[in-house]
Formats: sequence, C-alpha cells, structure tokens
Amino acid sequence: MPQRAAPSIVIAHRGASAYLPEHSLAGKAMAHAQGADYLEQDVVATGDGVPIVFHDLYLDALTDVASRFPGRARADGHYYCVDFELEEIRSLGLHERIDPASGRPRFPGRFPPEAARFRIPTLAEELAFIRGLNHSTGREAGIYPELKAPAWHRQQGIELAPLVLAELDAAGYLAPGQKVFLQCFDADELRRLRPALPAGLPLIQLLDRQALRSLDLQAIAAYAQGIGPPLTALADFGARPPRATGLRAAAAAAGLAVHAWTVRCDALPEGAGNLDALLRMLCGRLRVEGLFTDFPDRVRDWLAQEPG
Ligand code: CA
Repeated sequence: MPQRAAPSIVIAHRGASAYLPEHSLAGKAMAHAQGADYLEQDVVATGDGVPIVFHDLYLDALTDVASRFPGRARADGHYYCVDFELEEIRSLGLHERIDPASGRPRFPGRFPPEAARFRIPTLAEELAFIRGLNHSTGREAGIYPELKAPAWHRQQGIELAPLVLAELDAAGYLAPGQKVFLQCFDADELRRLRPALPAGLPLIQLLDRQALRSLDLQAIAAYAQGIGPPLTALADFGARPPRATGLRAAAAAAGLAVHAWTVRCDALPEGAGNLDALLRMLCGRLRVEGLFTDFPDRVRDWLAQEPG
C-alpha cells in the first residue's frame, strides 16, 4: 500500500459548512479557526463577469432570489447566477441550503435557514478575507478554488478561467510556494489550461461517476497532480469488512495524489458505520493525501489522535 509522508490535509468543503451556510465568509472563518489546511472556493460568474464564491449555477436553493426578483427565472424555473449582475447578487440574502420546492433544509441538523442572513462573497473579497485571517492568526490556510462548469459558462458567453486566474494572480496566489490547488471536473479545461499556468500550481482532476467509468490515470498524470474522487470510489463500504477498490493504489502508481470528497458526519457513505471507521479506512489504511469535509474540526481531531 502506498505511504504518504505527511498526515492527510483537511480541506474545508465550502467552509465549515456543517455549522454555517456554505460559502459564507463566517463559515470560512470558522473553518480557519478549526484548523483546516485549505478552504475551498467553488467559483461561478455573475452576468457582468465577476467571479463569485458559490456552488450552484443557480441561486434558488441558497438565497432569497425568488422573493426578491420574481419573474427572473428561466423556463426551467431556475434563477441563474449569470442572469444577475453583481450588484443584484450582493443584495441577496444567503442561507443554509434548502429544497426550493418544499422550503425544507437539506440537512435539518445544520444552521437554521431563517436564523441569520449572510452574503455571497466575490472571489476577490474571499481571498482578501482569508489573507486577513492568515495575518491575524499567524496560521496560513491555503485556498482551493474550483472552476464550476467552464464549458457551460462559455455557452453563456463567459470565459470563467481567465476571470478566476486574474483574481488569483492579483492576490499573489500564482507566485511560487503559495498554498493553492486548482480543481475542476472538466478534463478538457484543465488540459487546455496547463501550459499557460505556473509549473508549480497543482491541478486536481475531480472525478464524477462518468469519469470513473473511463478512467485513464496516465493521461491525467500528464497535466494534473492529483485526483478528486468521491469516497465511494475508494472503498466498497457495503462489503464486510469494507474493502479498498484499488483506485488509491492505482493513483499512487501513476504519481497522482488523492483528495477525496466529502466527509460528512451527518451523511456518511452507506455501510461506512461511523466517522472513526470511515477515517480509519481513508487515512489509516488508504492513506489519502487529502480529504474534503464539511466538518474540519472532527477530521482535525481524529488526525490529532491518529496512531502513527
Ligand atoms: Ca467544489
């Protein structure tokens, strides 16, 4: 079994999203305080071409857009970020994820959607915020931006990658030695971007079910430094005892790191048992290099007591 030299890195998935709304600055501050090594930014664009930190292509499940801007949904019923200018998006209230049809929270045990109002940050605002936290705490958390659906943005007339890279550059993150990973599901986009990017900027190829079906790790290793598979691609948690699938070993053989998603104490993979059993598999046995988690505190605590 491949051995990593250092403990797994803890990547705060959309912030400390178990405790505060995903991609709120408050949630990023909490993740920073909980000792996350990296804070994730999903990035989409506004209609006027400003990169914002937001997971979905549409605003419905996380904001009050339907009541603030009735009539602005497309025919499919969604209120798309690219159909709103930054000033409109700034005026929206950001809240915990709900099912727009029922209005019920996606995770009932998390921060109540009505308990407080947050805002969607621009990427520039968030990077400045994290640099501020790094300065005031003396502990540097890295950043982990994801280009969301670049091909779809292109269809809408927006080139997402140059917008994101310009912000990273302005904030100093394209200089050597910065704590940054750039991630994307779109292999064509990462392959296309690679030659223009600084050699030291590590790329993570995210893998969905479809990509896992026709996986060519050698091809990925030609442009990326790691893969981001779902937890269930690394182990069969339904087996007794759970067993490794071989993906982790194959990635190591191809020279690729593994940053797996997503560890959620309130939504563990079926059959995984409990958090301790899950992390013993991922960190203890498979020794993945990184974990995305909604619970940076719980993973950090586990790693602190991990047997060496
Ligand atoms: Ca993401």
